[in-house]
Amino acid sequence: MSDAGQHQQGNEGQNGPGKKFDTKLIHFGNEVDAATGASSVPIYQVSTFHHHDIFNPPEYDYSRSGNPTRQALEDYIAVLEGGEQGFAFSSGMSAISTTFMLFSAGDHLIVTEDVYGGTYRLLTNILSRLNIEATFVDMTNFENVKAALKPNTKAVYMETPSNPTLKITDMALIAAWGREHDLLSIVDNTFMTPYYQRPIELGVDIVLHSATKFLGGHSDVLAGLAVARSESLGRRLKFLQNGLGTVLGAQDSWLLMRGMKTLGARMAHSEISARKLADWLNQRKDIDAVFYPGLPDHPGRDVQEKQSTGYGAVVSFDVGSGERAKQVLSKVKLPLVAVSLGAVESILSYPAMMSHASMPREVRHERGITDGLLRFSVGLEDIDDLIADLEQALENN
Ligand SMILES: *Cc1c(COP(=O)(O)O)cnc(C)c1O
Repeated sequence: MSDAGQHQQGNEGQNGPGKKFDTKLIHFGNEVDAATGASSVPIYQVSTFHHHDIFNPPEYDYSRSGNPTRQALEDYIAVLEGGEQGFAFSSGMSAISTTFMLFSAGDHLIVTEDVYGGTYRLLTNILSRLNIEATFVDMTNFENVKAALKPNTKAVYMETPSNPTLKITDMALIAAWGREHDLLSIVDNTFMTPYYQRPIELGVDIVLHSATKFLGGHSDVLAGLAVARSESLGRRLKFLQNGLGTVLGAQDSWLLMRGMKTLGARMAHSEISARKLADWLNQRKDIDAVFYPGLPDHPGRDVQEKQSTGYGAVVSFDVGSGERAKQVLSKVKLPLVAVSLGAVESILSYPAMMSHASMPREVRHERGITDGLLRFSVGLEDIDDLIADLEQALENN
């Protein structure tokens, strides 16, 4: 396991051989405007483009189909994930729903059991109406995935670590099995980001992001990204992105790139802090459980270390009861108490009443989302201050 700043050599990507990931974050190809030398890509705040010569249409003709600012972002994420082509969408759900439009009525998908709530809702309440069917399985056990295969299965959809209990799925194993059965493999890589984990290098076909989280990093932009492994898949996603019109605007594309440049520094800082927080929580007698893939007793730790270069910046823990969770939420002074994660400021979420409130209590409990479970997304504050704040919030009075 490498520490922050000592990343393994990544793939060689589109930006030339030999560059390490931290360098690609800054020198991704469009960091300097080719026309003027400006130090960032201009914001092309336009809907359409003049045809100087009607017989030679311009490279860009309408911003839904292509916009130079969005294109720079799309090339950027493709370089970072080591894929063939990138796409930017108006939100993470927009990236996910557009990707699901690769499938047709009668198709079946195998999906991580504790998938993001919005993805669960999309599959069970919207795509189900279109006769696209999903089976949800605990992917920590490969046997469950194999058992879910049907003649009409078209894809396997993974999210690792899962949310909020941080279960780990072996992406290389499942992607290889999927390929044998002509299934597309798709990974939601929001929690790890390409800084720690690059699914395409492990054989996955499509990587998705809620860029609203760590990639944007400042709780100020809603965006989604997708990266296709191959040119042919890229063409299919491009057709859907243009056909559905689920694109990201130029301003937000620029803002997202601005955030992404500091991804490495932010992830490295937050991860070191997250490890300290997880260790601190793990030693306390008054915490029922701590979920963090870096803890020695985490059941997915070996797989995590095989497929990622870090453990991430999200720690979930069970304070024992709903009452105690509410006490902590009302007494903390530093973290934002909110939905979302992956920002410069720490964010404390209460899954039972926020992201997973619509799930029946029994289903929630089966999935480990108990009434005492809190999810801490560690930001850039000093970890000693964050721990002291949490300590006072945990005290009984
Ligand atoms: C937030 C999130 C999404 C949805 O992204 P939005 O940008 O909110 O639409 C999808 N997957 C994961 C893992 C997320 O955390």
